[in-house]
Amino acid sequence: MINVVIFGAPGAGKGTQSDKIRQKYELMHLSTGDVLRGELAAKTPLGLEAQKFIDNGELVPDNVVIGMVGNKLADNNKFKGIIFDGFPRTISQAIALDDLLFKKNDSISLMISLDVKKEELINRLLLRGKDSGRADDKNEEIIEKRIDVYLRETEPIIGYYHEQNKHFNIVGEGTIEEIFARICNIIDKYKLKKEELTMTIESDAKTNFTTVVEDAKLIEETSEKEEKVEEQEEVKEEEEVEEEEAEETEGEEEEEEEEEEEEEDAPIKIEIEIGDIKVVNGSLKIEIGDFELLKNSEVEIEIGDISIDGGNVQIEVGDIEIEN
Ligand code: AMP
Repeated sequence: MINVVIFGAPGAGKGTQSDKIRQKYELMHLSTGDVLRGELAAKTPLGLEAQKFIDNGELVPDNVVIGMVGNKLADNNKFKGIIFDGFPRTISQAIALDDLLFKKNDSISLMISLDVKKEELINRLLLRGKDSGRADDKNEEIIEKRIDVYLRETEPIIGYYHEQNKHFNIVGEGTIEEIFARICNIIDKYKLKKEELTMTIESDAKTNFTTVVEDAKLIEETSEKEEKVEEQEEVKEEEEVEEEEAEETEGEEEEEEEEEEEEEDAPIKIEIEIGDIKVVNGSLKIEIGDFELLKNSEVEIEIGDISIDGGNVQIEVGDIEIEN
């Protein structure tokens, strides 16, 4: 979208140039003066209210004009932008216009100011007044008043757009075509810059996108590699654990085997609990208690001769059989 404010004092040629700009750049032409005159001709309440201001060469109140422009902005969708002619005429209107456009996600692109000397302005307006039928163009006093109002209330807007780097001043004197060429020069440069800027933004966005994609790929590849390394490490660890366990098992088995071998080789120890020893009717009776064996086996002990030798009892133990 290209939104241009064509700016200048009454008689600077805003209307004439706006029409040419509209055609060339396919813009909507929004002239608040034309809209107000239309309302006046239709005798609408708005037109009737505006009439006294227009006839006196004064500005119609901001709220009336801003409301009117707000309504017109709703119809601009089929155009490539808008050319604002005779609006804004006060700083408040300029701020309100920015707000209105902002709500449409849009903004003013350029403000082109037509610079014309006061005498030339007056001559043009008086000349126009002969054919246009506009009452405010016929009366030199009213013309002077309109130029004063312009200098006092409208011209300061230049500073508003200047601060935003949107203000361009051109000589508004010469032929219509000469002036138009100057205007086109500005608009064309703006369009070119905008295209370049858009291309830069698009290519930046593309580069950024590519970088993002490449970064994502890199991250993916890196994490895949890391996952593989982790998997390999896990497998290695598991193998080591298995090896250790196998070694341990082997060791245990060997130990068991050794123990078994040791057990097999070891002499069988028998603990016999000897209970009471009595002499009954000339016979010696020995009470034998529990046997404790290394293995859970039954033991048969053959007791041989028992004799008393010097006060000691001697028991002859024969074969010992162990049954598993
Ligand atoms: P113009 O045709 O632009 O010279 O406007 C004619 C008259 O309409 C002006 O002298 C004002 O009285 C009124 N007018 C047009 N535009 C505006 C505006 N933006 N703000 C206030 N009054 C306006």
